[in-house]
Amino acid sequence: MSFKVSRGEAVDELNYFIENNLLDYSKLRNFDFGPQKRDNTSCLSPYITHGLVSEIEIINKSLKKNSFAKNEKFIQEVLWRVYWKGWLELRPNVWTDYLQELRNIKKNYEDNKNYLDAVEGKTNIECFNEWVNELKEFNYLHNHTRMWFASIWIFTLNLPWQLGAEFFMKHLFDGDAASNTLGWKWVAGIQTQGKNYLATEWNIKKFTNNRFQNVKINEEAPSKITEKSYPVIEKSFTNPNLLEDKILLVFDNNLSMELADFKNHNFKKILIISNTNETRQIQLSKNTLNFKTHLIDDQLNRLKTKSITAEIIKIDELKSIKEPVYALYPTVGENFDYIRFNQLKNIQFLYREIDRFSWQFCNKGFFNFKNHIPKIVTKFN
Ligand SMILES: Cc1cc2nc3c(=O)[nH]c(=O)nc-3n(C[C@H](O)[C@H](O)[C@H](O)COP(=O)(O)OP(=O)(O)OC[C@H]3O[C@@H](n4cnc5c(N)ncnc54)[C@H](O)[C@@H]3O)c2cc1C
Repeated sequence: MSFKVSRGEAVDELNYFIENNLLDYSKLRNFDFGPQKRDNTSCLSPYITHGLVSEIEIINKSLKKNSFAKNEKFIQEVLWRVYWKGWLELRPNVWTDYLQELRNIKKNYEDNKNYLDAVEGKTNIECFNEWVNELKEFNYLHNHTRMWFASIWIFTLNLPWQLGAEFFMKHLFDGDAASNTLGWKWVAGIQTQGKNYLATEWNIKKFTNNRFQNVKINEEAPSKITEKSYPVIEKSFTNPNLLEDKILLVFDNNLSMELADFKNHNFKKILIISNTNETRQIQLSKNTLNFKTHLIDDQLNRLKTKSITAEIIKIDELKSIKEPVYALYPTVGENFDYIRFNQLKNIQFLYREIDRFSWQFCNKGFFNFKNHIPKIVTKFN
């Protein structure tokens, strides 16, 4: 498998999936048949994470093909991502605490043999080693495999979830502060407190089509615990009345001006922001950085084709811009942290309509959010 690096190709992949594989999605989605056979899920996450295709675009296309009832599972998964994002927006300290814990833990694990064996794929668990290599080579893992991987990391290899989440962020093309951090916390049993996810030998064998033998893992372990609780913060996601003739900043989560709610507005110039390892708290792999660079270049080329004034700048160049500017909201994560740490007060955020509407339902659990899905789908269809 390989991921494409342009919006045009990402849309082709979306269309192909909807035309050929969407109908069997709910039946087959939990199987991981290996990297050479990935057609039972969409593999769109690297594109969605970077805004190359949007959740609304995907849902609406899927509804042109099948009814809501036939698509329900797929739509739920697509919106699960929106839910995690909103959940973290309302509790941003979960992300900052995660990074702080990671910094504290890292020092103690630099020379830890268990940890080094895990990230090198040299444990005595064959499937785990294979997934480590797959992650590094293809920069993607199937959802079920991410769950097994995280469960083995935490409960069999006894490694801190924070280091596992860092390892994923480093290599995943779809690496996302909300889905990744909350996915790991969920497996550990901290997200839904006391309910950890334990991988089992039979489950792995069944859903990998018996590709692995001898899966010796810890199938009984208590949930991780934390004393911390994160009350919902007061935050409004209100958009300003847009003025003409201002610069717009676009970060790497929104690389499709074609889809932006503000696409018809006349901005003075568009600056596409590139964030390299010098300005990141989690260091990304070369593959992951290259992937982002290609996507950013693709956005620039598409803007130029439309004769829109645009250029790419490094995130640390933002400090020298003193005039008031707009930015498509980068969401809680590394780009937003940069703005916060450097107190760049001249930036006014523009929020996507789907987020503004959906995030109000993210104050409780996903089962509550699920009840609002028909409303969300109707509003944006
Ligand atoms: C420990 C762990 C870490 C994860 N880290 C990330 C991450 O960094 N970035 C990321 O995008 N997803 C992450 N996920 C969620 C999920 O594994 C991936 O989104 C999914 O595997 C992507 O494959 P797909 O595009 O074929 O998904 P499909 O099954 O085709 O689903 C369609 C889309 O729905 C969304 N989606 C599906 N499942 C989930 C889910 N469980 N949570 C949130 N959104 C979902 C994705 O945007 C996905 O592209 C993580 C899950 C776990 C358990």
